Amino acid sequence: MKLDIKSQTLKDLQAKLKVLNQPAYRAGQVTEWLYAKRAAGWDAMSNLPKPLRDQLAESFNLETLELVTKQGSHDTTQKFLWKLADGSMVESVLIPANPALYGEASDRHTLCVSTQVGCAYGCRFCASGLEGWKRNLHPHEIIEQVLAVERWNAKQPGSAPGGRVINNLVIMGMGEPLANYDNLLKALKILNAPWGGAIGARKITISTSGLAPQIRKLADDPLQFRLAISLHGATDEVRNRIMPVNKKYPLKELTAACEYYQEKKSRMITLEYILIAGVNDALDQVKPLADLAKRLYAKVNLIPYNKVEDLTWERPSEEVQEVFASALIDRGVTATLRREKGHDIDAACGQLRLKTERKMSADAA
Ligand code: SAH
Ligand code: SF4
Repeated sequence: MKLDIKSQTLKDLQAKLKVLNQPAYRAGQVTEWLYAKRAAGWDAMSNLPKPLRDQLAESFNLETLELVTKQGSHDTTQKFLWKLADGSMVESVLIPANPALYGEASDRHTLCVSTQVGCAYGCRFCASGLEGWKRNLHPHEIIEQVLAVERWNAKQPGSAPGGRVINNLVIMGMGEPLANYDNLLKALKILNAPWGGAIGARKITISTSGLAPQIRKLADDPLQFRLAISLHGATDEVRNRIMPVNKKYPLKELTAACEYYQEKKSRMITLEYILIAGVNDALDQVKPLADLAKRLYAKVNLIPYNKVEDLTWERPSEEVQEVFASALIDRGVTATLRREKGHDIDAACGQLRLKTERKMSADAA
């Protein structure tokens, strides 16, 4: 099978070009076209001799993502639905930095990236797992989400030539990132490399539903990515009810893996906790959550649940959200209550794909 050129590191390209009897500097020219100029085809690479472009095209694919639909507008959360070469669809979400929250300039954005088509983990509240798992994304399909959004942004009125819109990545789109470990790490290394995406490792957050062995593996990786755990329940009882993965890796195992991660990295973990009415929002959940957060020196992100079509789960009232957050803070935990920005455009993972696929099959019928 022919690989995509975006699965190649600078070193891989240097080795390949050596075989093709090319000078070493050509590899840097290729990566500059791919990642700095975000070339979408071989012909754009105008400072490479045509015979070399042909040879590269013979050896590698150069795939781009096709935009199926986009929701949202400038200054809000924008959601992109992409079609991959095999017709599968995945989502990426572009989220403006909130200057009030983080004090950053408002031209800064976070991109939420998908790692699989569908998800095998079947968390009861999540749209991504509703229709099962189809396949892992290849490294270039993960990287391409970033490049395709940058390419799209460059075409918007008023954007600076060569400027960038993404300075943060969260691996929180469709799929379980740590179940596609090798492809994800390969993609992130390229997105992090100075010759590649040049996004700092500390600006990249990987979110997992709790794959304990892979958390340990990530702890042993030299790169300093940030880690977020989709906890959503502070007891096995609650987690078992909404997250089947907890039966395989119960809290005892998950917290031990988190402690190992912290020992190796000396860096703060984030615990994500979606507030779902009647499931995990009662005040008796505050103490176990606070105990866990303190034990792990973790901060807690409280996120009001985003309603999913077909599912009966609901978000609690704002009052319940605020009381829960204050009770947690009163116990000495660093916690934020995130106002969901993309609620109106189905910003939670998997929802746009689900709706579009359903609409497409209804139209075809
Ligand atoms: N599979 C990984 C990463 C993708 S999900 C994980 O589970 O961590 C990204 C985050 O969105 C997770 O915290 C997930 O629990 C959350 N999420 C899923 N469906 C949601 C919904 N309807 N409303 C709010 N958050 C949701
Ligand atoms: Fe998969 Fe994460 Fe959704 Fe669970 S929350 S089904 S692990 S994408």
